[in-house]
Amino acid sequence: MKNIVIFGAPGSGKGTQSELMIKKYGFGHISTGDVLRNEIKNGTELGKTAASYIDKGQLIPDSLMIDILASVYDGFGADHEGVIFDGFPRTIPQAEALKTMLAERGHNIAAMIELDVPEDELTARLINRGKQSGRSDDNEETIKKRLDVYHNQTAPLIGWYKADGTHHHIEGLGELDRIFADICEVIDRV
Ligand code: AMP
Repeated sequence: MKNIVIFGAPGSGKGTQSELMIKKYGFGHISTGDVLRNEIKNGTELGKTAASYIDKGQLIPDSLMIDILASVYDGFGADHEGVIFDGFPRTIPQAEALKTMLAERGHNIAAMIELDVPEDELTARLINRGKQSGRSDDNEETIKKRLDVYHNQTAPLIGWYKADGTHHHIEGLGELDRIFADICEVIDRV
């Protein structure tokens, strides 16, 4: 099992690069944002709770997210080459819980791959995506809030993963193929 955390601000290209990684390596994919949007679409209690946070650009409480993650991970079974965690962890307690959850199963994180993209580019990409995605949180006001949440609550994870020895920095601005090649270089090395 080669489990990978794909990390970056909203709009940094995590979803796009995850798709390429799935195709090339046969990894499973856990996007916590997709899991939550699916719950909202199905009108579940969890979806109702999630929507109240997502629409404000806030994070869902850690305790709830950690439970969801463990059950989705266990749903994959052992028949994958590894799992890509996309949009999780987003806080230090989530990173600690992920490490513990994997250790309990004899697994680990092989690499945390940070896609580094400048702020003005993130905003432009998200506004552009909002025109097509219909996502309730891809509007200018919520985008600004999500980027603030990223800086305050999520970016400290870079230091956490550096201390963990699994952090890899990738220049996330530029050609899609070059960015993917840089990611593959990390995955093949770890
Ligand atoms: P994403 O699709 O990853 O951009 O996630 C969309 C929204 O879902 C976020 O702005 C949060 O409100 C919520 N969300 C997704 N993943 C998490 C997480 N790991 N912890 C807390 N909230 C999350």
